[in-house]
Amino acid sequence: AKAMESERKFCFYTETMRENAINEKEIENVMYEALNSGQFKAYLQSKVDINTGKMVGAEALVRWIKDGKIIPPNEFLPLFEKNGFIVNIDLFVLEEVCKMQREWISMGLTPLPISVNQSKALVYSEGYVERLESIINKYDLPPHLVELELLETIIHEDIENFSKICKELRLKGFLICIDDFGSGYSSFNLLKDIEADVLKVDRGFLTDAEDSKRVEFVLSNIISLAKGLDMSVVVEGVETIEQVNLLKELSCYVAQGFYYAKPMPKEKYEEQLKNN
Ligand code: C2E
Ligand code: MG
Ligand code: MG
Ligand code: MG
Repeated sequence: AKAMESERKFCFYTETMRENAINEKEIENVMYEALNSGQFKAYLQSKVDINTGKMVGAEALVRWIKDGKIIPPNEFLPLFEKNGFIVNIDLFVLEEVCKMQREWISMGLTPLPISVNQSKALVYSEGYVERLESIINKYDLPPHLVELELLETIIHEDIENFSKICKELRLKGFLICIDDFGSGYSSFNLLKDIEADVLKVDRGFLTDAEDSKRVEFVLSNIISLAKGLDMSVVVEGVETIEQVNLLKELSCYVAQGFYYAKPMPKEKYEEQLKNN
C-alpha cells in the first residue's frame, strides 16, 4: 500500500502540484503576520437542544478573513498541520474563546460551554495540560466552560498516552468530546479505553439515516451506547427538519448543524446568547 501511495504521488506530480507548493510557500510567508494582525477569527456554531430550540453551547471554528474573503479551514489547516502552525492557531482560538466567555460573564450574560478543536501536535506537546490551565486561569474561568474536541483519529494515534492526558484533563475539570465519532476504524476501541464526556457523532450517519433503516439502527445504538457510558451525545451536520425529527425519535437531544445555524462571528452569536 505504501509503495502504491508513493507511485500515485509520483504519477500525479503535475504542474498544479508545483503551483500548490508555491502557494504553500506564499501562505507560510504571511501566516504569522496574518495571525498577529487579526486575520484569523474564531467563529461560533451553536449547539441546540432539539426539544426547546434553545442554545446549549457552541463550537469554535477558525476562519481566515483574507482580503475581505472568508477562507474555510480545509484550505489552510492541512498545511498548518504539516508545518506545525496549527498549534498557534489552536491556542489563539482557545484564548479568543476565553476572552469572549470572560466578557459575557462581565456583561451579566449566562455563558454556555464552548468547544475548541485540538490538533494532534498540541495535544501531545510537552506541558499541554498546564498550558490549557494557565490560559483559563488567566481569564479566571471555570474549566467546564471550555470543552475540548478531539478527533478519534488523534486519540487513536497514541491511545495509551492520551488516556493519561485525558484523565488529567478531566481531573482538572475540562470536558472531553470525541469528535467525528464513527468515521474512523477504531471507534469502539476508543470507547473501551477512554473515558470522555461527550460523543459527537459524525455527520456521515445523518446523510443516509432518513431513508435507510440500517443506518438508523446503527445511529440509534451509538446513541444508547453513549448514554450507557454516561456520555452526552451531540449529532453534527443536522440540515433538515426530517433529521431533527429522527433524532427526537432516537432520544438524542443535542444537535449542531446548518438547520439551526451556520458558524457565525462573535457579534452575531452574542445577540443570540442575549435572546436565548
Ligand atoms: P469539525 O470539528 O468536525 O467541525 C464541524 C464542521 O462541519 C465545520 O466545518 C462546520 O462548519 C461543518 N458543519 C456544521 N454543520 C454542518 C451541516 O449542517 N452541514 C455540513 N455540510 N457541514 C456542517 P469547518 O468550519 O469548515 O471546519 C472543518 C474542520 O476543520 C473541523 O471539523 C475541524 O476538524 C477543523 N477545525 C476548525 N477549526 C479548527 C481549530 O481552531 N483548530 C483545529 N485543530 N481544527 C479546526
Ligand atoms: Mg469539532
Ligand atoms: Mg466534527
Ligand atoms: Mg470534521
